[in-house]
Amino acid sequence: MNEYDSNRILDLFKKIGYTRTENISETNCYVLNTCHIREKATDKVYHDVGRLKKEFRNKKKPILLVTGCVAQAEGEEMLKKESYIDGVFGPQSYHKIPKIINKIEIEKSRVNSTEFDVIEKFDNLNLIKTKCSKISSFLTIQEGCDKFCHFCVVPYTRGPEYSRSNNEILSEARQLIDAGAKEITLLGQNVNAYNSKNFLLSDLICALNEMSGLERIRYTTSHPKDMTDDLIDVHKNCKKLMPLVHLPVQSGSSKILKLMNRKHNIDDYLNTIKKLKDKNPSIKFSSDFIIGYPGETEEDFKLTLALLDEIDFINSYSFIFSPRPGTPASKLKNIDKKITKKRLISFQKKSEEIIKNYHQELLNKKVEVLFENSINKDGKYFGRDKHANAVMVQSSQDLTGKIFDVKITNFNQNTLFGEISL
Ligand code: SF4
Repeated sequence: MNEYDSNRILDLFKKIGYTRTENISETNCYVLNTCHIREKATDKVYHDVGRLKKEFRNKKKPILLVTGCVAQAEGEEMLKKESYIDGVFGPQSYHKIPKIINKIEIEKSRVNSTEFDVIEKFDNLNLIKTKCSKISSFLTIQEGCDKFCHFCVVPYTRGPEYSRSNNEILSEARQLIDAGAKEITLLGQNVNAYNSKNFLLSDLICALNEMSGLERIRYTTSHPKDMTDDLIDVHKNCKKLMPLVHLPVQSGSSKILKLMNRKHNIDDYLNTIKKLKDKNPSIKFSSDFIIGYPGETEEDFKLTLALLDEIDFINSYSFIFSPRPGTPASKLKNIDKKITKKRLISFQKKSEEIIKNYHQELLNKKVEVLFENSINKDGKYFGRDKHANAVMVQSSQDLTGKIFDVKITNFNQNTLFGEISL
C-alpha cells in the first residue's frame, strides 16, 4: 500500500511542478514514506534524517516531509524531536501536499497534518489522473481496519474501515490499463471487507474481469473471517483472477488466535481453504505468521508447524512477535528471546523445505508468465507466473508486458529460471 501511496504522492507533486530525482544531492524536497509494521520503524526515520543532514551539511537544506504510519503515530512528537523535519502528515492526509508545501515555502511554518480525512483524500485523488505506468500496478480500494487484532497498529494508524466507490475504482483501473497495466492488484488492509453500498469485492472482481486490456487480477490482504461464499465463487467464475490467495493465519493454535483477538479459529480457516480448493483446485496459498506470541507454548508452536505442513503454503512470511506501542499485546509478558528465536529458525527451515519441494515439482513444467521488465541490457527478463512466483528468462526479443509459457529449467529459493516455450 505504501508503494501505491508513494505513486499517488508523486502524482500530486507533479501537479505542482516537481519531478522525481534519483540523485539525492540535487533534491529540494525529500519525502519519507514510512511503515509501522516492522520493528524499530521510528528509529529508522531518525536514522534516515541523520543521513540527509550529513548529505546537506554545507548546502541549502531541502524540504523534509515524513508521511505514512510512523508519521501518523508520532505526529507532533516527531516535529518536537527533530527540527530538520518541516512537515509530518498521515496516510489519510497526503492529498493536502500542495497546501503543505505552500505553508512551508510561503508561510515558513512547520506542518502537522495527521487527521483521518480518508473521504476527502480519495475525492481529491480522483481529480488527478494517475501517471503510474507499470505492467503490474496496485490500486487501493479499501483502507483501515475494524478488527483490532491485539498485536496490530493498523486500526490506530490507518483508522476505521473505509471502502472507495466502485465507480472511482473502475475509472482508476481504466487509467492504469490505458497507461499499460496488464495486471492489477487490489489493495486494502482488509481488502475482502470491501463494501461500497453493498457492492462487494466479488462484484468488483467480476467488473474488472470484463475490462479489455487487463489480463490478471489479484487482491491482498484478506482476513479469513471476510472470505465469504460470493468471493470464493469468483475464484471459479472469473478467469482473470489469479489462483493465489494470501490469507494470513498468524498461528496454527486456536488458543493463540483467541488471545490475538483474530475472530477466527483453525477449523474456520481450514474450512475456508477447503471451500476455495473445491471451487478451484489450482489455488495455492501464502500466509503471515507471528512466532512467539505471548502465551505460545511448545504445543501451540507445534500446531503452527503442523498447519504449515497441511496447507503447503508456497510463501510464509514469519516474524517473531514484537510489541507495538499502544496495542493490547504490548502490555503482555514476552516469551524468552532464545526460545522465540529457536522457534523462528525451525519454522523457517520447514517453510524453506516446502518451497524447495514445490519448486522442484515445477522443474521441466510449463508456467504462464507475465513479463514485467528487463533486468539488464543483456536480455534478462523478469516476470511472474499465475501463482506470483518470480521467473527469469533470457530473450533477444522485448518481452515487457507480454505473456508466454515458460519451461522451468532451474530454481533457487526465491526465483524460477526457464526458457520461453513456443
Ligand atoms: S485484520 Fe489485519 S490490519 Fe486489521 S487489526 Fe488484524 S492484523 Fe491488523
